[in-house]
Parts: sequence; C-alpha cells; structure tokens
Amino acid sequence: MTQKNPQRGQLIVLSGPSGVGKSTVIAELLSERPDIYFSISFTTRKPRVGEADGVNYYFVSKEAFEEMIARDEFLEYAQYVDNYYGTSLRLIEEKLSAGTDVLLDIEVQGAAKVREKCPDAVLIFIIPPSFEELSRRLHGRHTDDEEVIQGRLQKAREEWKEIPSYHYLVVNDKVSHAASEIMAILTAEGCRTKYRKEWMEGV
Ligand code: 5GP
Repeated sequence: MTQKNPQRGQLIVLSGPSGVGKSTVIAELLSERPDIYFSISFTTRKPRVGEADGVNYYFVSKEAFEEMIARDEFLEYAQYVDNYYGTSLRLIEEKLSAGTDVLLDIEVQGAAKVREKCPDAVLIFIIPPSFEELSRRLHGRHTDDEEVIQGRLQKAREEWKEIPSYHYLVVNDKVSHAASEIMAILTAEGCRTKYRKEWMEGV
C-alpha cells in the first residue's frame, strides 16, 4: 500500500482506431487491475454478435440518446460513423469521487472534450504496428461490411493526426506488452507530486 490517503480517482482516456484491439488490451489491463472501473458508454449503434446490453455498451435508440443530450447527462458525446456514443457524467462522477480510477474507451472528439473539462485526465492513444495491420484486423473480424470498414479506415487516418494532443502513445504489437505499458503509465501518473502531497507534509 503506497497511497497514504484515498483521494479522487484518476480519469484515464484510451483512444485508438477501431480494430486496433483496444477491447482485448482493456480486458488484459482490467484482469491485472480489477480496481479500475471501465465506463460503459451509451450508443445508438446496433450490438455486434457477442455484445450484450450493459456489458459492452448501453444500446439505446437515437431518440433516447438525444433526450439524454437535452438533459445534459453526458460528460462528452460524439457522432462516429453515423452513430452517437457518449459517457454518462453521473456514472463516472460517482466512481471518481469515491476514489476509484475510471477508464474511458472513447474516440478523439470525445477525448478532446474530456481534456477541456477534466485537465487532470491521462490521455493515452493506442495504435496498431502499421496501417496495413489495421486493415487486416478490421477485415479479419468479419463483423462489418466493406463500406463500414472503409469508413473506419478513413476515420483512423483522421484520428492519427490527433495523436500529438494525447499524453502517451502505446503500440499494440502484442496485447500483454501494450497492457503492461499502460500499467506503467498509470503507475508513473500516480507518483506525480501533485497526488503525493500527504507525503510532503510535516518535514
Ligand atoms: P465501436 O463501434 O467499434 O464499438 O466504437 C467506435 C468508436 O467509438 C471507438 O473509437 C470507441 O472508442 C468510441 N466510443 C465508444 N464509446 C464512446 C463514448 O462514450 N464516447 C465517445 N466519444 N466515443 C466512444
């Protein structure tokens, strides 16, 4: 136990192109760090095979999502390849104020909003070893048709340009390697002097 005083949890943002293997890396990370709360987003996208409501996402209608926007219930939301995706402010605020670290898997527009609203958030971008590998992975998962895949590849090209606005870059060449780099980032972040004020007092 190295932390003297439980305080506000760390908000961690993980972005990266669709198909980079973020979900697998996140699963590996959470198996090593079960204390991190993974924020389940709301989306208007249809569930893919194997996805369940309340596990991967809260799947809602466009109307329900737009009502949530009107009620100002999102920390951030964005439109991505014809669907809405958003993070519930209430759900994550409850966790952060209880001292729990919260992980968001969100795309670049949402990450930019979080950066604005939560300056202490740690922003990590994850990329595949190459663009060709990304295309191969998107085709290999057999869940989307060619038009959707091309849309996602185009989106990835645009997202790539946003990498410099993130704090860290992780290359997913191997899941265990990417997950341990993220853990190293989180360990280093937790050692920042601003989070260790308790240790500096009384000398
Ligand atoms: P997918 O449809 O492949 O599950 O996700 C598409 C993109 O939406 C991914 O880049 C994912 O990170 C992003 N995403 C998922 N949830 C949210 C969210 O709550 N807000 C934002 N801005 N993006 C999200």
